[in-house]
Amino acid sequence: MTADHFDVIIVGGGPVGMALAICLHERGVSTSLLEAQGLPEQVKDPRPLALSYGSHLILERLGVWETLPQITAIKTIHISNSSHFGRTVLTSEEAGVSELGYVVNYHDLHRSMHQLLQNHGAHYQTGATVSRLTTSTEQAQVEYQQAGKNKQVTAKLLVLADGGQLATQIENINYHTYEYQQWAIVANVETSIPQNGVAYERFTADGPVALLPSGNGYALVWTVPSLSAQEILSLDDITFLSRLQDHFGHRTGKFLSCGKRSGFPLILKYASPTIARRTVLVGNAAQTLHPVAGQGFNLGLRDAFELSNAINERPIQFVKIGACEMLKNYKNKRQVDRDAGKLFTHSLAKIFTSDLPLLQTFCGMGLSVLDCLPPVKRFVARRMIFGARG
Ligand SMILES: Cc1cc2nc3c(=O)[nH]c(=O)nc-3n(C[C@H](O)[C@H](O)[C@H](O)COP(=O)(O)OP(=O)(O)OC[C@H]3O[C@@H](n4cnc5c(N)ncnc54)[C@H](O)[C@@H]3O)c2cc1C
Repeated sequence: MTADHFDVIIVGGGPVGMALAICLHERGVSTSLLEAQGLPEQVKDPRPLALSYGSHLILERLGVWETLPQITAIKTIHISNSSHFGRTVLTSEEAGVSELGYVVNYHDLHRSMHQLLQNHGAHYQTGATVSRLTTSTEQAQVEYQQAGKNKQVTAKLLVLADGGQLATQIENINYHTYEYQQWAIVANVETSIPQNGVAYERFTADGPVALLPSGNGYALVWTVPSLSAQEILSLDDITFLSRLQDHFGHRTGKFLSCGKRSGFPLILKYASPTIARRTVLVGNAAQTLHPVAGQGFNLGLRDAFELSNAINERPIQFVKIGACEMLKNYKNKRQVDRDAGKLFTHSLAKIFTSDLPLLQTFCGMGLSVLDCLPPVKRFVARRMIFGARG
């Protein structure tokens, strides 16, 4: 079996792997993208993705933005705590941007990127399930199965963007995991007060509930205890909406209808380190976060963008793709943003569900104090929008 050779092999054509493939293809780096699913253009993943203004700028630069069929702007973020006083409101004016963020559908993003890669004639294999990885000081080798055949490719750099399944084959990479014992229930809902660009994040004893403006209604991301997830998923629509109303309150009026519901178990899973010989991890393969505050894909997209910059650093003739120095530089550049994203989402997910009354009161006070301090709000908002470097 002969193996094709590339500068970069990306394993996993989720949104992060595809974004990196588009960046590298655009910059003329020889790249192969291997994706296990057969027909990615038919992906029906129902999750909404809240994208920061910074992600919008990256996707615009990649030519993805203008191909998305539905984009809903977030002008204001309203954060509250269900059982304690205190709330804060962040606006786009305060953050100094035209919009705080946008809501798009995962499957739309997936389809747009897939189409772009096809149009560009990128080396993009679908139905290609990677099973074995080996690395040496010179190169990485990937074995995969496609249409019943065993195939191989080699490259100077292997990028794992597979969501975190394959890195266990790489020496020295370990995962740390924390199970939240929670599920996120996702559905589109309609309310009697039409959405007007406000995204709601409401903290409850069970976990956060987010209502993200999406089209004419909202995309719901409702965190529930694992033990209740199946029961809530199987409720009839009327009972589901009434349960949601009791839980969320009446800030958006009455919940009128909901679409298909889906559930996702929630974990924090992060790799340490994120680089190894001729290998780098990006996106969910590097860090899978709680969806509170919608950070996961935004962080993964910055991983992809920064990695593409590291590969294309000027003067280009001095860049040794996949060499130890290049990987260390990339890792150091991403460390602060990555740690901040993990700390931010994990703290929000844990603190607001704590049953210590004093801590709850403190959080409520924190939200109110934040609301009275525009410079601090601006600081928080800009970090949510552009990552740890603000
Ligand atoms: C309910 C929910 C809501 C969320 N909301 C937001 C939000 O509002 N904003 C935000 O920024 N983030 C959000 N996230 C996080 C976001 O979905 C992830 O961060 C993002 O999907 C990560 O993309 P990825 O490409 O790294 O990984 P994935 O989306 O997991 O893609 C991995 C890809 O690798 C492929 N693959 C796996 N194994 C192999 C193999 N052996 N060979 C070849 N291919 C393989 C898979 O088929 C898949 O296509 C949310 C997550 C959840 C669960």
